[in-house]
Amino acid sequence: MPTLTGACPECETDLTTPPLNEGETLSCPECLLTLRVDGIQDGTLSLQMIEVQLRDWGQ
Ligand SMILES: [Zn+2]
Repeated sequence: MPTLTGACPECETDLTTPPLNEGETLSCPECLLTLRVDGIQDGTLSLQMIEVQLRDWGQ
């Protein structure tokens, strides 16, 4: 099965993933950030960090 590669924009860990589509998300196994596939070119993922918006609880 073909795989895609990319690098985490935060910790620069090399990632190998199963085929993904643009707009899908994955978690970096190293820093656990959620990353979104911004684009795919020649089997290389362009990843963008998603800012997790924390809500105030009970306020
Ligand atoms: Zn990372």
